[in-house]
Amino acid sequence: MNFLHEHGQRCSHPRREFFKKSFAFFGAAGASARARAAHKPAEDHKLAIPVLEKGLERPRESGLAAPERLRIFDAHLHCPSESADVWQWYPVTKTFEEFAAYLDRCGVQRGIINNVRCQLAKTPKDFIEGNREVARHVEKHKGRFIGACVVNPLFIDESLREIEDCRKQLGFLWVGELCNYTVPYPYTIREFESLVGQVVKMNMVLDVHTDLEEMEYIIQKYPQATIVFPHFGDSHEYEHIFKRIDLVARNSNCYLDTSGSGHDRVGMLEYAVKTVGADRVLFGSDFSINCPATVLARINHAFISEEQKRKILAGNLEALLKKVRT
Ligand SMILES: [Zn+2]
Repeated sequence: MNFLHEHGQRCSHPRREFFKKSFAFFGAAGASARARAAHKPAEDHKLAIPVLEKGLERPRESGLAAPERLRIFDAHLHCPSESADVWQWYPVTKTFEEFAAYLDRCGVQRGIINNVRCQLAKTPKDFIEGNREVARHVEKHKGRFIGACVVNPLFIDESLREIEDCRKQLGFLWVGELCNYTVPYPYTIREFESLVGQVVKMNMVLDVHTDLEEMEYIIQKYPQATIVFPHFGDSHEYEHIFKRIDLVARNSNCYLDTSGSGHDRVGMLEYAVKTVGADRVLFGSDFSINCPATVLARINHAFISEEQKRKILAGNLEALLKKVRT
């Protein structure tokens, strides 16, 4: 989830304030030399073709890869609940069928789905039933979606059992996106440690929304887990984005998804591919909050090779799922 979720239907919490601050920060970003360079009008702006740093690929003439030939597999999807809980500022895709139809429109063929009902759950019954909704969608759209289980560590016994049931009975391979701030709880609690232990034991992927500090803590605490961190940036976008990418680069058990803030800053996807490598960057959109097509456009236009694009758009996620399936 992206911090923008908080403006979604039936979802409101205190992080709104600090998201506002991030805009204020950005307004003042001129203090940073790097940001100054980024915003300075280029003296050679008349040149249509940029001089590319060694290792960067020139995009195709159209800038767009042919989508019909590409497999596109989204690592980060929040589907609406059957009771029409939907994460959208102004809801336009309120049912699962509308959700799936919008993915079709954007060319997204497959995806990892979790249910908004689980994200908003106040009781174990709610997250258990939300995960069962996901299982029904996976079953109905065979081969298109992979189920992701969302639990609440404040109900740890039910959560541990649910993770096991989702893996063994429902075939889910993914836990998350866990968003501690919607519940809320800190990732430092003992119950979260038990939760991660269960994810590792079940050989599943842990997908966890973090700010930079939480990311540093989780990485040093759980080197044995396979972790996907959504979002290049956090609420301190420019200040933290390079640090977040560098952290993933240094830890081979970690992956980064392209959703939310940061991927749209031209050059950041290229930086991620250069530092993390093309194998651990995943296409994620955070739909139904954000539009998959905007993320796809940046990937398609990026100064990376066609092979790197193919890996990001589907190949890496397929390889990751294969790894936890066996
Ligand atoms: Zn999300």
